[in-house]
Amino acid sequence: MTKHVLVTGASRGIGAAIARTLAAADRHIWINYRSSTVEAEAVAESIQKRGWEASTMQFDVSDREACAAILTDFIEKYGGFDIVVNNAGITADAPFPGMEDEQWDSVIQTSLGGFYNVCRPLVMPMIRKRWGRIVNMTSIAALHGNRGQSNYAAAKAGVIGATKSLARELASRGICVNAVAPGFIDTEMTEQISRDLIRQSVPMGRAGTVQEVANVVEFLCSDGASYVTGEVINVSGGII
Ligand code: NAP
Repeated sequence: MTKHVLVTGASRGIGAAIARTLAAADRHIWINYRSSTVEAEAVAESIQKRGWEASTMQFDVSDREACAAILTDFIEKYGGFDIVVNNAGITADAPFPGMEDEQWDSVIQTSLGGFYNVCRPLVMPMIRKRWGRIVNMTSIAALHGNRGQSNYAAAKAGVIGATKSLARELASRGICVNAVAPGFIDTEMTEQISRDLIRQSVPMGRAGTVQEVANVVEFLCSDGASYVTGEVINVSGGII
């Protein structure tokens, strides 16, 4: 049986690496994105060239109605997803006194709202299958806080709370729910951060690669991770 795999925010960066890494003969990878159509199609093509199934799926994870419409339609056609990776996320940094409502709302609605908007319609069909994997992308900012990122740290901390609660709810149904907390990973999101700051802050003295995050997600989605649920795994080069 083909397993359907949804990776949100998979047109580039960490999500694209996860989509490519999870691709396999018995899986159909669905590459969600908001606006980067060309990049998302390139990720799908790179998987198809290896002989495996992949499709793009455009929707904005912060738009609850759009998520419900497209995911309900998907469930009717395919029965639901077996693996869901909630990876889509944005930053909109500002010192707290100067933070605009839009900066607060957009970050919370994408990272935390996106988790709810995507998972809520998909969990019941997963329960019926009695097997599933949900991996949520958080950040070490949720654990430590970060100057200028009260919105981002709050959203990502919320994702951790939701992960642990959902893990308890679904543990008896064969569904594992975990979170991955990257540190500094080389993507567009971190290209403005000085390399000196990264060298000084990270015990390993370097930023991580998208593949190093994808490898951990791959394990959490595997049968080998069947007794791991409710965990937050740092992928941070030693920042604990
Ligand atoms: P990125 O390079 O900026 O890519 C973000 C991806 O998310 C893109 O594919 C983007 O697609 C998509 N996206 C953004 N908003 C969306 C929305 N509303 N609906 C659907 N898709 C949306 O980011 P990244 O560095 O790979 O980060 C991926 C995840 O890891 C995020 O949750 C981030 O918070 C987390 N993280 C990253 C780091 C790091 O160092 N990079 C560290 C800790 C945690 P479009 O271009 O189409 O909008």
